[in-house]
Amino acid sequence: MAFTSAAELARRVQSRDVSPQALTEASLARIQAAQALNAIVSVNPNAAAQAQKVHARVAAGEALPLAGIPVTVKDNINVTGTATTCGSRILAGYVSPYDATAVRRLVQAGAVIVAKANMDEFAMGSSTESSTHGATLNPWDTARVPGGSSGGSAVAVAANLTPVSLGSDTGGSVRQPAAFTGVYGLKPTYGRVSRYGLVAYASSLDQIGPFARSAEDLALLMNVIAGHDPQDATSLHAPPAFQVGTPEDLRGLRVGVITESLEGNTSGVHAALSVTLDALRGAGATVGEVSLPELRYAIAAYYLIAMPEASSNLARFDGMVYGRRVSGHDVTEAMTLTREQGFGREVQRRIMIGTYALSSGYYDAYYSKAMKVRRLIAERFTQAFRDFDVLVTPTSPFPAFRRGEKTSDPLAMYAADVDTVAINLAGLPALSVPAGFETVDGAALPVGVQFIAPALHDELLVKVAGALEALGAVQVGGAPGY
Ligand code: GLN
Repeated sequence: MAFTSAAELARRVQSRDVSPQALTEASLARIQAAQALNAIVSVNPNAAAQAQKVHARVAAGEALPLAGIPVTVKDNINVTGTATTCGSRILAGYVSPYDATAVRRLVQAGAVIVAKANMDEFAMGSSTESSTHGATLNPWDTARVPGGSSGGSAVAVAANLTPVSLGSDTGGSVRQPAAFTGVYGLKPTYGRVSRYGLVAYASSLDQIGPFARSAEDLALLMNVIAGHDPQDATSLHAPPAFQVGTPEDLRGLRVGVITESLEGNTSGVHAALSVTLDALRGAGATVGEVSLPELRYAIAAYYLIAMPEASSNLARFDGMVYGRRVSGHDVTEAMTLTREQGFGREVQRRIMIGTYALSSGYYDAYYSKAMKVRRLIAERFTQAFRDFDVLVTPTSPFPAFRRGEKTSDPLAMYAADVDTVAINLAGLPALSVPAGFETVDGAALPVGVQFIAPALHDELLVKVAGALEALGAVQVGGAPGY
């Protein structure tokens, strides 16, 4: 059951071939067996009861698209009755009284939320090493990181703990860990999936996105979680219509490779990209190149927008309402001590840089300049989409790096996001497709190729993925031992 797709499992539950309870138990057993990977930070105490309910609904004849499907959810997305820690000490003891909209929709569709996944503290990072729960390991080589910040959600799917999971992507946090672990990871168009119940990091960039092992499962999940939500003011009116594509869909598709993303890649990344482009050409797509020179400013602009937004969003964690409180002689001291002891180093660094970039006298030089760059980048993408239906880059210039390799050098960690952050700045949808492997020190490490579509064309990305899958150009899963 662990290796079967969500779509197939839902069909079996619907035909009473397997029970939701059995699926939940199987998933919990996998979680137990894979504890060494540290992908899961807590198990949903209500999972068995949820499975029971799905069983009753199926028995009553309800048609549920996700009947009995076990799902892992990143620990910054609220699930009723489970702890939400965001990988931080500061939220210790906080139990969510409500479901995020995406979670509510999953449960409504018959899914069972079995567990919460490990992540970089407050989703700030690219390696899932900065969590208070410790680092998550990459199942392909446990000396390496699974990527981040949604590393636990990626590993949950890559190591077959659950067939699908949810992560969040502010600058690459779904796509990059998907690439590092050999699964699909989709960052939807900004506004396509409700952010209600997602703990905010950088509100103008954050999106919830799914991990899956097949295009069919991506479509299944997106058709459930996407759609307008009155509880998120930035939510769009764009009903999802995801379908799996066929190679036919690639005929005449205009594919543009972003020139700037062709530099600085490892040979394995380069090879995976070439193989993917060949498959596209073979199926009748035209492949060209397009230069977006402003992309060289993307990382600087991204961090100068993400950090100020974070500094503002994280002001609410002062020990007064949520989680842990360190007491002091007065309110100021209590708040200071709470934040000093509750937040890790990277989060503190970002709050300070973010506050600085917003402060009077520096606002124009940093934040407001970054916003101008953001606009330029968005316009460049719009121009590129006049000539191309989809754009392509590697998801990351290199496969999974070693644990500890970048922890002492924040700028090196930020640079890992070179291929992903611009997409968030422009609000576009992008999908990382598992496209091959690079052997490093004797271990086969997955490599991802990123497809980018115009806003609201998320459906096209899943179509292309399905087509590539049918052509045998996608290489999902199979981490040794899992
Ligand atoms: N690595 C990027 C950051 O640290 C992106 C993280 C994310 O998408 N949540 O901000």
